[in-house]
Amino acid sequence: MSEAGKIRIPLSDADVGETETGFVLKAMKDGSISGTGAFIKQFEDGVSLRVGRRHAVATSNATLAIELALRVLGVSRGAEVIVPALTFAAPAMSVLAVDATPVIVDVEPGSWTLSPTAVSEAITASTKAIIAVDVMGHPADYDRLSAFGVPIIEDAAEAHGAMYKTRPVGSLGDISVFSFHANKTITTGEGGCVTTDRSDLADRMRSMVHHGFVPDRPYWHETLGRNFRMTNLTAAVGLGQLQRWDALVAARGRVAGWYDSLLADSGCNSRPIADWATYSCWLYAVTTTHRDRLVADLREAGVDARAVWPALTHQPIFARYADRACPVAERVARDALWLPTYSHMTYEHVAYVADLTRRTIRAYEI
Ligand SMILES: *Cc1c(COP(=O)(O)O)cnc(C)c1O
Repeated sequence: MSEAGKIRIPLSDADVGETETGFVLKAMKDGSISGTGAFIKQFEDGVSLRVGRRHAVATSNATLAIELALRVLGVSRGAEVIVPALTFAAPAMSVLAVDATPVIVDVEPGSWTLSPTAVSEAITASTKAIIAVDVMGHPADYDRLSAFGVPIIEDAAEAHGAMYKTRPVGSLGDISVFSFHANKTITTGEGGCVTTDRSDLADRMRSMVHHGFVPDRPYWHETLGRNFRMTNLTAAVGLGQLQRWDALVAARGRVAGWYDSLLADSGCNSRPIADWATYSCWLYAVTTTHRDRLVADLREAGVDARAVWPALTHQPIFARYADRACPVAERVARDALWLPTYSHMTYEHVAYVADLTRRTIRAYEI
């Protein structure tokens, strides 16, 4: 609860409204609420059209979508999967979930994404996949990563609307993954999907999310089935969000632009953007040597700033896989924080956060 007179600005705030409500009510009235229903197909078709991919399969969330991708690529015990050290933990968790070994490598200073040089040093005969994360809305360097000839899973969970050169994120891996969690740019509350151009992989993923069923032969199982489906209610929300995709992406970009200009010369630095990237801001990140103090002071003042994730190399569950130096990821994880970012954030709120940030840092430096 906010105290009287004290402003509270959340880190993130989902933007769902009448378009989404209309579709949800229709699904409710039709009694079409489970993991089969017309909105799911419409949502999948909308996503594949949006990113120019032949196939999309909706899932209950992105964490399971990554696990699905790993499973259909044949990743299992004994396999190694390369993951970046700077990421939300879900990609590396999914590697553990299929009993494979995460190989944690560093990111590049100019993009904060997987370093192709570090990947080249980490590849072995057991490397069965690379998970590249389009971190915080910035695509990885796919031309260089594809040169290794190892299947790539693109984790585009945070990057709806970004581009690598002329290609949209969500189309850059052998299999690409989106999240539609409530704090992502396009949201269904909870939700995810995979996209691919390969029909063989799409067929296997479509079957696996749905108990391993095969068409026209109910209750007959030849392969591992799971229940990773998105519900029709969730897809109804997603359909509304798809119609608003451009506006939602542009709105966050506008917030990022305001922060860029308002924070110039404030003593903190905005994130690097590589020249081959069209960045699509998810949460606005800055770096400062006063990170922990600044986060604490902003939060005390009612602004929900957050430190970015600890590097995977510092997470207890991945300690036994932290056998490579990841100085860039560890530096970003030490110095970076997110400022509140959401599509309907007003200029006044951005200016308030930026001004508070500037004044707080200045006070440290006197
Ligand atoms: C949010 C996120 C996920 C997990 O998404 P869920 O839909 O919440 O499971 C995976 N990878 C990255 C990079 C994320 O940011």
